[in-house]
Amino acid sequence: MSNIKPNILIIISDQLSAQALPAYGNKFAVTHNISQIMEMGARFKTAYTNYPLCLPARASFWTSRYPHQTKIISNGGSLTEPVLDESVPTLGSIFTEAGYRAFNFGKKHDAGSLRGFECAVNVPDMEMEDNEPVFPISVDTRRDRNTRKLVVDFLKNYKEDKPYVAIASFNNPHDICNWTGVFQGDRELPPFDGKVPDLPDNLYIDNKEFKNRPLPVQYMCCAHNRQAQIAEWSEDKIRRYLAAYHRFIERVDEEIGLVLNALRSRKDAGNTLVVFFADHGDSMCGRWMATKHTTFYDETIHVPLVFYGPGIEGRNKSLNGLVSLLDLTPTLCDYAGIDISGYEFEGKSLLPWLKGEKENESPHEYLAGQWYSEYCFTIEPGRMIRTARYKYTHYLEENGEELYDMENDPGEVRNRAGREEFKSILEEHRKILRGYVENTNDPYFNTFWKADNMWRSHKPGYRNHRGLAVSAYYRKNK
Ligand code: ZN
Repeated sequence: MSNIKPNILIIISDQLSAQALPAYGNKFAVTHNISQIMEMGARFKTAYTNYPLCLPARASFWTSRYPHQTKIISNGGSLTEPVLDESVPTLGSIFTEAGYRAFNFGKKHDAGSLRGFECAVNVPDMEMEDNEPVFPISVDTRRDRNTRKLVVDFLKNYKEDKPYVAIASFNNPHDICNWTGVFQGDRELPPFDGKVPDLPDNLYIDNKEFKNRPLPVQYMCCAHNRQAQIAEWSEDKIRRYLAAYHRFIERVDEEIGLVLNALRSRKDAGNTLVVFFADHGDSMCGRWMATKHTTFYDETIHVPLVFYGPGIEGRNKSLNGLVSLLDLTPTLCDYAGIDISGYEFEGKSLLPWLKGEKENESPHEYLAGQWYSEYCFTIEPGRMIRTARYKYTHYLEENGEELYDMENDPGEVRNRAGREEFKSILEEHRKILRGYVENTNDPYFNTFWKADNMWRSHKPGYRNHRGLAVSAYYRKNK
């Protein structure tokens, strides 16, 4: 690394599951540019977001604090967006204090956690001519085009002495949420003879297994509009959903390619760290689930995380060990030579792992994830503990629990929580949860919750859901 402070370019995709990418084993995806980032750098194989929803996830990783600490625990109570307390240091405030210029282009949805970044304005959408009738685009895709133009302009023109930290914050593949909306109910799909992905191995879960899940998981269709919409879909529509999801990934991949080209044209490209990750994933039709929500399954909570630049050891390197997006801000500070000892970060710097100094050790013993509510129409708090081999979840409603052996059951189709032979492992994970709650002052076990019985009425299985989901119901009856 040179003596001049490095620039940092952060590229974010919204709702991109790790397993949707070739670098994480996906055989269908075509992502030339994201793959190029993977090939040039070092990625973490097991990186988790700390909350599978935009606003809480973003406020958490821009501050390295858990959602209960940022107090941003939903996308807004009854649609009012919460705001981060001004006293909480953010990546932007820390870097500007250290002499950086900080810029955000594109999606914010930050509850104030982008404090310190300039240009942090919502990008207007632009008209695009290349709409496809089969995979119609909406504002998400159109805004991404504008975001990319702003980032490319910035990279072509930034000539100041100060180093920069810039965020290219893309929406896609988030447009899948609008695609699902467009195709809700029985609407006919236009003819399509293109390639479609295979159905996921974990598409179906038998009824006995399904009844063995915590109630918020069993009745997620009742809490979430888009999940309710896919109840009556056919397998063909599921395939089309996945094809559309991958198409939106290709669209963001194309924009990322143009950003990388612009970066390469800069003289200081060799002194720039590039980071790529996603705020959370998509259900990708595992267990007949679509878009994002309540659960801690890997599709929604396991995200890509890759770094490349001077000082990062290895090309196309896949690092083992547990990391979460809480580690992002401390890692970037450490990389830029900013002393992190005075900050109350919950994550830690991953730089020793990225430099190849600590490869045989996991950065963390366990990771914790949180859930509270999407828009506070229904409140179903839950916590997840991920250890090297297992995933444990707990929901306050009826003390619902799950335990998955992630090595033998990566699709999370067999809940082991009630099984005699997993008793000691279950107890061990309950203890880790209690320890985490104590260490982080998480008020989880005393959190208010509210799950209306009227949304616990149909036979188990998402395919048995009919009619509205709770949020649509409350909006309609207000
Ligand atoms: Zn339902």
